[in-house]
Amino acid sequence: MKRSYIKRVSKKQQIKLNKWRAITLERATYLAEKYGYALCEYCGGAEGGHELTSFDGHHIDKNRRNNTQENCYICHRICHGKITDENLLVTHEDFQGGNNPLGFHKEV
Ligand SMILES: [Zn+2]
Repeated sequence: MKRSYIKRVSKKQQIKLNKWRAITLERATYLAEKYGYALCEYCGGAEGGHELTSFDGHHIDKNRRNNTQENCYICHRICHGKITDENLLVTHEDFQGGNNPLGFHKEV
């Protein structure tokens, strides 16, 4: 029986993506419990519908293979775009975006 290399890789990739989604959800849940609502680590803003699953997980070290909690940064899709477009360095809960729809104040 012939093995399809491409199929194997894409399946593996899918598992990785699922793992990253799970890590993203886990961290989004952690933040929601800490701050009382689901929020973006970049702008500090809540998600419109408060859906944890609508957030993206950004790889802090930009290494897509490093799928760990430590490397997962929760952000809006639009904030994620800005981070990747401008090649921004981020750290957990840095809220450097300053767009703050719910009046969230950065902790010092
Ligand atoms: Zn955001």
